[in-house]
Amino acid sequence: MKKAAIFTLLITFLIGCQQENFLAQQTEKRETQHDYKEEPESFVQVEEEDEEQGEEGIEEEQENEQIDENKDNTLTVIDNPESVSLVVNKQRKLPDGFEPDDLVEANVPYHAAEGDPKRLIRKVAADALEDLFAAAKEDGLELVAVSGYRSYDRQKQIYEYNVETKGQDHADKFSAKPGTSEHQTGLAMDVASAALVAVLEQSFIETEEGQWLEDHAHEHGFIIRYPEGKEDITGYSYEPWHLRYVGKETATEIYQAQVTLEEYFGLYP
Ligand SMILES: [Zn+2]
Repeated sequence: MKKAAIFTLLITFLIGCQQENFLAQQTEKRETQHDYKEEPESFVQVEEEDEEQGEEGIEEEQENEQIDENKDNTLTVIDNPESVSLVVNKQRKLPDGFEPDDLVEANVPYHAAEGDPKRLIRKVAADALEDLFAAAKEDGLELVAVSGYRSYDRQKQIYEYNVETKGQDHADKFSAKPGTSEHQTGLAMDVASAALVAVLEQSFIETEEGQWLEDHAHEHGFIIRYPEGKEDITGYSYEPWHLRYVGKETATEIYQAQVTLEEYFGLYP
């Protein structure tokens, strides 16, 4: 009798948990779906594929702990995560759990909800972003900031969910391993044309804003991190919207030499 009562209580508790979980997932799903609608598929594939499903993968996290992120022995852990000259890519990762300690919101228009960590970027880059947006405005162009900081845990959820559901190869092709996303450095920001409501796809370069960024981002310390035709070096397709802060001097040298960050720092043979 007593056993039956405990059993019933346990079942009631478990159902309660499930429902709460389900509701939380549904809410999250609605939120991300809203984002999703306004962002074209190409962006989703390149940058954040299956982000909405990634949320549902949280439960699987425990099971996937055994995935060895360093299994690929070409993966180097960088030792200067606070430097604005750091290079993070598919071969070079940030130390586990790294989080910059000077993340702030820039005083620029955002296409991300109030309080969303995507609005964050490191202070030095936030100041530069404000200058960049002001200069664009002087030239009659309206930019909007879409996605900046992304935490290690967030990237881990996305990646592990993709491994679990689509297999290792697919996950490695379409989502960055935790610690290897440049968004985790706090020095990257995806920027779009305000008129096109955050269209992050390669055709962004055909907009006046996209063209202006290509010509002027370096004057404010940013580079177009994943240039066209450099996929073999950067590991990423052309992303005219992804800006990375490196400082004016480095950005100008990279712009003038038309090289990638990898080539600039001699990390590509
Ligand atoms: Zn990006």
